[in-house]
Amino acid sequence: MKEDRIIVIGAGPVGLCLSLALAQEGIDVCLAEALGDDNFLDQVPRAGTNHPATLELLDRIGLYEKLEPRGIVAPLLHYWERSDNQRIAEFDHRHLKDDTRFPYVLQCERIKIVEEALKLAKAHPNIDVRLATEFTSFTQDRDGVTAQVANPAGETESIRGAYLVSGEGARSIIRKDLGIEFEGFTYPDRTLNIEVAYDFRSHGYTERNYISDPDEWSNLFHWKGPPDRWRIHFPTAPDEDETALMRPEALQARLQRFLATGTPFDIVGSNLYVVHQRVAQRFRVGRAILAGDSAHVNSPIGAMGMNSGIHDAFNLAEKLTRIARKEVDDDVLDRYERQRRHVALKHTQAQTMRNKRLLAEKDPAVRAKNHDELRRTADDPKLARAFLLRSSLIESLREAKQIQ
Ligand SMILES: Cc1cc2nc3c(=O)[nH]c(=O)nc-3n(C[C@H](O)[C@H](O)[C@H](O)COP(=O)(O)OP(=O)(O)OC[C@H]3O[C@@H](n4cnc5c(N)ncnc54)[C@H](O)[C@@H]3O)c2cc1C
Repeated sequence: MKEDRIIVIGAGPVGLCLSLALAQEGIDVCLAEALGDDNFLDQVPRAGTNHPATLELLDRIGLYEKLEPRGIVAPLLHYWERSDNQRIAEFDHRHLKDDTRFPYVLQCERIKIVEEALKLAKAHPNIDVRLATEFTSFTQDRDGVTAQVANPAGETESIRGAYLVSGEGARSIIRKDLGIEFEGFTYPDRTLNIEVAYDFRSHGYTERNYISDPDEWSNLFHWKGPPDRWRIHFPTAPDEDETALMRPEALQARLQRFLATGTPFDIVGSNLYVVHQRVAQRFRVGRAILAGDSAHVNSPIGAMGMNSGIHDAFNLAEKLTRIARKEVDDDVLDRYERQRRHVALKHTQAQTMRNKRLLAEKDPAVRAKNHDELRRTADDPKLARAFLLRSSLIESLREAKQIQ
């Protein structure tokens, strides 16, 4: 029994990055994941945009070089006005060339990230990867934690370690068992995601586009390719019937209203999702710690959920490593909470809410003012850099560093 190991629950992007960052510092990890080899890659598509600050961290654990060939390098970000189909502003991440080695985002799906990271984790001698292992409960005492899991044979097993980290995602059992409030709200409207085989660049769009409209605001992203796959998100009314919304004719009509091409779009997938804005009241109770979606969930407008979760993972890995080496007391975990909770509230949540308001604004005068402001910001290199430092989460990392 390795009593000093770290137990990580969930092999999502956060659990995997944390496990790799710890293992590479010589710390033993037990990583338990409910999905097995047979269904690990059958997960619903979610995150796809990796910001510069995240790319630096992925590079540190040898993951960037695996992802870059499977992704799309995207230096540009566009804002569009839907009513006249005109581009409002273009932001170029190359303004960040002196701030990061990666002045672009990498469009690379969450599933590719976890696939590549899992391969690295399985190959690492310090990580005991346990797939098809479902975490059910835990206890903690002065010296450590004991996690109860259902192993692949369906038997209950106890795993002992020094700390337990929840990388379980939004439905975290650990957060609920600790009685931690998940403060915030859920938007009443669901978001419709349609995946299309089409190259929208032929109409002037770039790899990432935010489209402003008081009723049908959208996000349009180059998702993968070749062959090209793009994703477009639309709002829906809270009471709209799901079956009616998802009918192929309804999806097609919605796309044609967005861009009338004259020929039907080749729709390759669609789903509806609910959007929450919630932050856990505590990120740590004793030896149990929350990271990623188990600690905070937010709207995908701005692509910050997975990115900020990965930032949690690296912040935490550094602190758990120093605790394991007896360089610091475990009060340092309270600093993890102060730093990352601040980012979740003041950056991730605040910005994603602002992004939605900006796209969906109904007052014509406010819309015009917002759009002028975007143009002015994009056209001024200093302002554009400041905008991109915020949108790419570099500023949030710098600010968190200052928090003691
Ligand atoms: C449509 C959409 C688009 C998005 N786009 C972006 C984007 O572009 N950029 C971005 O940064 N974010 C985006 N997000 C958010 C992003 O997907 C999440 O923030 C991210 O996946 C969270 O990672 P995680 O590792 O914390 O949790 P998850 O990805 O949810 O992983 C949790 C893991 O834990 C496992 N697990 C759960 N319970 C147990 C248990 N009891 N025992 C064992 N294992 C368990 C699960 O099987 C899973 O593998 C998007 C979300 C949505 C819905």
